[in-house]
Amino acid sequence: MEKTVQLYEGKAKKVFATEDPEIVIVSYKDDATALDGLKKGTIVGKGAINNRMSNYIMRLLEKHGVPTHFVEELNDRETAVKKVSIVPLEVIIRNISAGSFAKRYGVEEGIVFKEPTIEFSYKNDDLHDPLINSYHALALGLATKEEIETIKKMAFKVNEVMKEYFKGLGVTLVDFKLEFGRLSDGSIVLADEISPDTCRFWDSKTNEKLDKDRFRRDMGGVEDAYKEMMRRVFGE
Ligand code: UDP
Repeated sequence: MEKTVQLYEGKAKKVFATEDPEIVIVSYKDDATALDGLKKGTIVGKGAINNRMSNYIMRLLEKHGVPTHFVEELNDRETAVKKVSIVPLEVIIRNISAGSFAKRYGVEEGIVFKEPTIEFSYKNDDLHDPLINSYHALALGLATKEEIETIKKMAFKVNEVMKEYFKGLGVTLVDFKLEFGRLSDGSIVLADEISPDTCRFWDSKTNEKLDKDRFRRDMGGVEDAYKEMMRRVFGE
């Protein structure tokens, strides 16, 4: 599989066309942004870690019946994926209070919920990705009722599979963000990435943060946290 023209460059990834109109190649960068793009930096080695970890989890999810965009890992940083049109919703699942949830509702981080929660943000840089409910998403034509139902079911299923998997690695899955896409036949698949950039991972014993919060909050030890997650997943 060979790259042809670059289609898009985002904050953390580039996307290239291939000879196959249904397949694109994603190339992961070490660039990191946070705080709505205000904070910029580099996390050395992040691109390769996120690529390999995301692919591993996508494969695991496929085994559990969740359709994903994953096709083939090409090298450390590059993966062939099915071309999708992204549903412009960021889907966030939470098991434990943290981040914007704790801030919005004035509660501490670390409250374990009886049931996981779901919320959507409208993916729109000009509007700074505002929180949106499913009725408004429907009113704006961002997705159909059926698509929203499918996305909710898939997101909770992803949570069940990931929670169990990470528990086995001594990692608590606090919350995470998913993106979904439509294939050319209109079916919905899990897309984008699943990595320490998009999930909150806490060490089960110490609650030490093993994710991008170390970068967002200038805590130091960012590279080591990503490497530690890589070690837990791949034993290297
Ligand atoms: N998240 C993400 N991209 C975003 C916003 C959030 O991947 O643009 C992830 C984040 O890593 C966390 C979860 O979604 O695992 C919930 O994030 P939150 O809403 O608490 O926002 P934050 O505190 O990161 O601004």
